[in-house]
Amino acid sequence: MPKLVDAYARKIDYLRISVTDRCNLRCVYCMPPQGIDLAESKNILRYEEILRTARIACANGVTKIRITGGEPLVRRGIVDFLKSLSATPGLVDLSLTTNGVLLKEYAAALKSAGLRRVNVSLDSLNAERFKKITRGDNLTQVQGGIEEAQRAGLTPVKINMVAIKGFNDGEIVEFAMLSKTKPYHVRFIEYMPFDTTEGWQRDKCISAKELKAMIETVEPLEPVLTTAGNAGPAKRFRFKDAPGEVGFISPVSEHFCGSCNRLRLTADGKLRLCLFSDTEIDLRAPLRDGSSDEAVANVILRAAFEKPEKHLINENFFKKCSRTMSLIGG
Ligand code: SAM
Ligand code: SF4
Repeated sequence: MPKLVDAYARKIDYLRISVTDRCNLRCVYCMPPQGIDLAESKNILRYEEILRTARIACANGVTKIRITGGEPLVRRGIVDFLKSLSATPGLVDLSLTTNGVLLKEYAAALKSAGLRRVNVSLDSLNAERFKKITRGDNLTQVQGGIEEAQRAGLTPVKINMVAIKGFNDGEIVEFAMLSKTKPYHVRFIEYMPFDTTEGWQRDKCISAKELKAMIETVEPLEPVLTTAGNAGPAKRFRFKDAPGEVGFISPVSEHFCGSCNRLRLTADGKLRLCLFSDTEIDLRAPLRDGSSDEAVANVILRAAFEKPEKHLINENFFKKCSRTMSLIGG
């Protein structure tokens, strides 16, 4: 019987776990060029602590876990960790979000370890623009990683593109068209307000509605019917007879808080109740002070119960989150 339910009767069955705050890229919307102040390594949860948290969360209703970061593939021992994690009783769906730089070499091992699927973040198909956005020169590696993930069966491979006005908006149609020749799920994500050096401005955010209209100037999209089991925050479409899909995730223009089913665990052991709220509940102390599984479960249950009803990013008084996405585990 699932127990993780919040005060608004939302069932919480999805845990996003950041395994590191480190990253091998420096995307302009996520980090300053010099990187961020990293947590001391003693404050980063050990794999055993994450596995225990996952076991307790799954015993209380979590069925889906996504591993993220920073860049999860830079943490040593990630494959063995995923192998142990995938054996967690009650866990049905294990996925990972990556920038794709190391994916080519890891894809087959990740699949063997029990990972089901990957989301690869890619914001430009143009080498120069890719460099500008990520401050890295790795486009070919990322593209190779996507192909290898598809070959390894980490499917559907989702390609997440953050669309930013005046930056990569000229590539939106080209990205969507990837779904016509490959079975990729290309997902456009609205640019979100986090406190980074480049700074977020509302007018740089392109709404899902505008994105869809831009694509449909070239070719119409038809809706993909979802069942309760595969419904997520993305609004899903496809071009007629295309092997892949096109999706839109609109946290800014049209929030989906009413159906939010997730909690986040940061790499330094805080339960984050909402992506856009700085309210966090510490799990690292109970994991380390000899607390029983029941006591740890109670902290997770309290975190779920205290989830805010909705985010406030469209309110005038909204303050940008103090942690960057790389620290929260986007
Ligand atoms: N390093 C991995 C990656 O890039 O996929 C995983 C962590 S990264 C923080 C997770 C996702 O957050 C990426 O898809 C990235 O594009 C997204 N992200 C980071 N900052 C963002 C922002 N300000 N707005 C929208 N998405 C953002
Ligand atoms: Fe690294 Fe991902 Fe942030 Fe880019 S978005 S800097 S790849 S954590």
